[in-house]
Amino acid sequence: MAEKRDYYEVMGVDRNASQDQIKKAYRKKAKECHPDFNPNDPNAEAKFKELNEANEVLSDPDKRAAYDRYGHSAFEQGGMGGGGFSDGSFNMDMGDIFGSVFGDFFGGGRSARRNGPMRGSDISVNIILSFEEAIFGCTKTVDITVVENCGSCHGTGAKAGTSPKTCPTCGGRGVETTTKQTILGMMQSQTTCHTCGGKGTVVDTPCPDCNGAGKLRKSKSIEISIPKGINTGQTIRKSGFGNAGSNGGGSGDLLITVSVRPSTTFVRNETNILSNVKINVVQAILGDEITIPTIDGDIKYTLKPGVQPDDKIFLRGRGVPFLRTPSKRGDHIVTIKVEIPTNCTDAQKDLIREFGELPKKQKLSDKIKKALS
Ligand SMILES: [Zn+2]
Ligand SMILES: [Zn+2]
Repeated sequence: MAEKRDYYEVMGVDRNASQDQIKKAYRKKAKECHPDFNPNDPNAEAKFKELNEANEVLSDPDKRAAYDRYGHSAFEQGGMGGGGFSDGSFNMDMGDIFGSVFGDFFGGGRSARRNGPMRGSDISVNIILSFEEAIFGCTKTVDITVVENCGSCHGTGAKAGTSPKTCPTCGGRGVETTTKQTILGMMQSQTTCHTCGGKGTVVDTPCPDCNGAGKLRKSKSIEISIPKGINTGQTIRKSGFGNAGSNGGGSGDLLITVSVRPSTTFVRNETNILSNVKINVVQAILGDEITIPTIDGDIKYTLKPGVQPDDKIFLRGRGVPFLRTPSKRGDHIVTIKVEIPTNCTDAQKDLIREFGELPKKQKLSDKIKKALS
């Protein structure tokens, strides 16, 4: 593609030409080079396009300022190149050009709010569950304050029977473009429209129920089904129960984060339950039927003779239901603690001594038996 000609040259105007002069120059040139008036010129159409392109830039103060500063490259940033002009449309967003060229250096442009659909924000709450509630699940009610679309105006902010109209300041774009003279030349920046606050629409008669905001804060009680097996730090998401969105955007979510109170009897380790059970020396030696507390209630358990301290009893399937497959459960692991008596009576001590002597006496009686035989 041939080198693009300077737009001022194409239009035949001075660089300092006023908008009025540019308008007049365009009318004159357009008549001169219109293809219908130049049927024998094979380049007429190209010339006419070139003129229109120049006019689109120079007749728009924003685009003209950019052209003055950057030349043709001002309009190549967005990837439109030269070909983008061929259909006569020129929808380049100048805010984007300046945003990409200067970015954060000037801090402008990028922060401007657009009036597209915006999803509402999430609401986060914490709930405290008892040890058992977390294991077996339950239903809880949480009280929240949620932003909802006003029922009277359906979120438009306009009184019933009226409707919002396009914002006259920004033409519905939700942003305002301002041009400033700086040491680097003319600079543009975009800000959220001050008239409509970025919505792109304004209302003449505000809805009396929401004062034109389109939204209301409401206190609500939400019932939450707590699944079996949940644990501290886990979050339940209720989709769409958060704050209402804007411009047709969906509602946010309600996020319920769980804290579980500890138990005085049990320790939870993921899906396993841990606990201790105390037995005395006699039970350890002789065995016994004992009672073990579990999360399902007390159960009877038969101890075999000769239990050692810290031996473990595995109660399969007596643990915590799996969060994703609650029909499955972890185990309950019971550690046996043997209590050694500390203050025996003299009679008990004599018996213990006798118990301690028994192996010796046994050996002695064996020797006697041998001798006698
Ligand atoms: Zn309303
Ligand atoms: Zn506006």
